[in-house]
Amino acid sequence: FYSKEMQNALVFYDKKMEDEMIKSFFIANNIKRGIDEGEFYLMYQPIFDINGKKLAGLEALARWQNKDIGLINPMDFISIAEKTGNINLLGDFILKEVSKDIVKWKDAGIDIPKVAINISTKQLEHQDFCFNALSIFEYYGVNLFKIEFEITESIMMGNIKIILENINYLNGAGISMSIDDFGTGYSSLGQLKNLPIKKIKIDKIFIDDIPYDSKGVEICRSILSMGRILKLDIVAEGIETKEQLEAIKRMGCILGQGYYYSKPLEPHEIQNSFL
Ligand code: C2E
Ligand code: MG
Ligand code: MG
Ligand code: MG
Repeated sequence: FYSKEMQNALVFYDKKMEDEMIKSFFIANNIKRGIDEGEFYLMYQPIFDINGKKLAGLEALARWQNKDIGLINPMDFISIAEKTGNINLLGDFILKEVSKDIVKWKDAGIDIPKVAINISTKQLEHQDFCFNALSIFEYYGVNLFKIEFEITESIMMGNIKIILENINYLNGAGISMSIDDFGTGYSSLGQLKNLPIKKIKIDKIFIDDIPYDSKGVEICRSILSMGRILKLDIVAEGIETKEQLEAIKRMGCILGQGYYYSKPLEPHEIQNSFL
């Protein structure tokens, strides 16, 4: 029925799908063991004040170095952890690791202005999330005003009642919220207006377009002007070139993050860079 090429294409496609299924299955079944055996760790990417080139904060990014299949990216394991429910376990592990690192840096005499932690909608939907998180920070003696949680527009599709209760509670305790990957989800201006958030991060896909694509430039401009109206801080994510940095700076963006400044670093590299 199929030509020779078509048959080969089908076989190739099936093999690729099969490999991905095996990998997903492996990930789903090994997250808990991986946490217990110390295979997960954190890297930290600096966020800069664009004008003074001063450190404004760090973003914690999870990594999984597995003994059998090597380095696994968060893009691959976070969504699976969300589906299996292991995201709560992994999330608590991450909060503990960040707390330990903050204490280590503090003991080494480095004062990090802010540490941003990515939080999945699934975590924020959990009734016990605030209690858990605040207990961890209290145990390690972390100043809550140093912590920021990055959430995505997907919270709009979650259990918004619990999510809002949690966000308000965290805000009250001193932890601020930022919207990550802004522009890639389905949130509207109207919804954003009612959310108790402090910051938005313009997604890399829009930064990729500047300065040469005029539509991309207009999108960044309008996100920045909206930010000014709603009195939100704005971070440009994924800045890779000097041209992008200059363009976003001209548009009035204050905060920037991306390979142009720095890739994610090991905790001890943070220590060496900012001491
Ligand atoms: P994100 O929170 O938007 O993080 C930014 C991602 O972009 C990171 O990828 C970072 O390494 C990458 N990046 C930063 N600057 C540049 C750049 O200039 N060029 C390019 N090409 N990439 C850049 P990473 O670490 O692979 O994380 C991917 C996503 O996985 C994160 O996107 C976040 O949504 C999720 N994630 C990572 N760690 C955690 C975590 O601890 N918890 C949760 N829930 N999600 C996490
Ligand atoms: Mg993030
Ligand atoms: Mg992002
Ligand atoms: Mg992202």
